[in-house]
Amino acid sequence: MRIFISWITAIFLLMATSWTAFSKELDVNDIYAKRMELYKKAEAVSLIPWYYFAAIDQYERNVRLVRRDLPKATGVLGIYIPPERWAGPLNKNKHDTNPFTIAQFAGLGIDGNGDGVANPNDDDDVIFAIARYLQTYGTEHEHIKIALWDYYQRSKTVDLILGKVKIYKTYKTLLLDDHAFPLPLHTNYTYKNTWGDARGWGGRRMHEGTDIFAHYGVPVRATCYGIVELKGWNKYGGWRVGIRDINNTYHYFAHLNGFARNLQEGQVVEPGMVIGSVGSSGYGPPGTAGKFPPHLHYGMYKDNGYTEWSFDPYPHLKMWERTEKSQKKQRGRN
Ligand SMILES: [Zn+2]
Repeated sequence: MRIFISWITAIFLLMATSWTAFSKELDVNDIYAKRMELYKKAEAVSLIPWYYFAAIDQYERNVRLVRRDLPKATGVLGIYIPPERWAGPLNKNKHDTNPFTIAQFAGLGIDGNGDGVANPNDDDDVIFAIARYLQTYGTEHEHIKIALWDYYQRSKTVDLILGKVKIYKTYKTLLLDDHAFPLPLHTNYTYKNTWGDARGWGGRRMHEGTDIFAHYGVPVRATCYGIVELKGWNKYGGWRVGIRDINNTYHYFAHLNGFARNLQEGQVVEPGMVIGSVGSSGYGPPGTAGKFPPHLHYGMYKDNGYTEWSFDPYPHLKMWERTEKSQKKQRGRN
């Protein structure tokens, strides 16, 4: 009898956990579906393609996640329009929600859903406000670029948003969170957590990344969906590639032996795509190599709308490696 009861409990627990896993998944998909619905609505009224709205929203969401001075998002959008912009710079009522007075003070605030209120915490009102703002510049790519520059006043921000535009336009989906380990898992490689260690080879800065040791020529792969932001030589990094992903994170690959053929700055890449190979380039003029054992230096950097800083890639590498391993196992079983 006791065995019977524990079986029932076990089955019940199993059902409960798979159900919560299922409903969690549903939530994420739900959020993406809701966002897409808002972008498409904005496209319908402004004739500006949805991926511009997706890119602005995704950029702002990630800035908001790393900044403490901005309020948390209340809806599914990440876009935050500051009160003085929403209400109008000369509007004494910084929290004005009256569409008519806001319009008089040339604020961006708008009543998007027809409830009579221009609410900066309402997703419909926010997306329509952005749509109308962009539309005043025109619907062509060049017009939108100028609109973004006027709005953010930072060329890096405009570049980051336009990079996302390109990625969304290419894949036509918001589901771009997959990652891959930078080296093929079947190759021989070793790495350990060296975050913050003194640099092994020259330089006085602390070591900003993880070194993955492997033989010359082992393929190096993109770890995310992103844009090649940089490709070339640097005295310390040697031949290196920088990729900006959909979350504003910059992935840095250094000491390469060479680049994948046809790899270009501005190119869209996806997880697992070969971008170069392991080498030992760096610490000298272009072409210098062999001053240390071959390895991939992998770094990650975050952008908060003002500056960039590095963070420890080691836990991420571990996670991507684990995920890829279990995916492989699952495929092997089927
Ligand atoms: Zn390194």
